Amino acid sequence: MHLHATGRETAGEVLSAMDEAGVSLACILAPFLTPPYSLQDGASLQAANDYAAALVHGAEDRLAGFAVVNPALPGAAAEVERCVGLGLRGLKLVPAGWYPYDDAPRAVYAAAEAHRLPVLFHSGIFIDGRSSRYCRPAYYEALRDSPTLRATLAHLGWPWCDEAIAVALIDRIHGLRPNDCQFRLDISFGPPPPYRQEVIGRAWQVLGAELLLYGSDRFLPCTGADLRRAQSEAAAVLDRLGLSDAEARRVFSENARDWLHARPT
Ligand SMILES: [Zn+2]
Repeated sequence: MHLHATGRETAGEVLSAMDEAGVSLACILAPFLTPPYSLQDGASLQAANDYAAALVHGAEDRLAGFAVVNPALPGAAAEVERCVGLGLRGLKLVPAGWYPYDDAPRAVYAAAEAHRLPVLFHSGIFIDGRSSRYCRPAYYEALRDSPTLRATLAHLGWPWCDEAIAVALIDRIHGLRPNDCQFRLDISFGPPPPYRQEVIGRAWQVLGAELLLYGSDRFLPCTGADLRRAQSEAAAVLDRLGLSDAEARRVFSENARDWLHARPT
């Protein structure tokens, strides 16, 4: 989960880093944080989505390409449709200049529902240092109006982790099985190291391992050693918390495969 393309990687490099780190399947997000790509420039996002589609083409069994659109820009829902045609299998959305409960993103949510695209939402503090107010976890309650949308809130919503856990808990309180729940949380970097164990531990204790997805949040190109280091850090945290091997397997692979509608190997 949650590998960022930058426009500077090749599929060969990505696959060999994955081989080196023992990663069989990775979600690759279209570039949007590295020039010339920008969330505020719709033409650049179309180019980013074309780039992501070309990057994963021919390796779709190992690379799940995620499109990026800005719902506040005209044509965002049409761009989602176009990306489905390109073979992209999910959507990454970053509320930056729009709120998840606004009217603007609803057409994008509808397109994602229609094509059963899982959506990875940024949640919590945002790297631009300006947009975090749009990314509060509770704002994603608006997704309940799109009940078949399958969302993952990234970074455990840090620093609003309690809020993210509470949002994800509601379906469990209503008795839904984990696979039927609308929200998952990714445990990718967000909480800095002194917070990580406590925050991941709380999420595990409250939600269970089934709703947690591992993500490295690394920027490509990176080495297999980089991916391996990210995995080892997360594995050490899960181990210290006392997750069973079966639970750790869920977090590292099975939950993401279910979420992508991919079959476990
Ligand atoms: Zn990220």
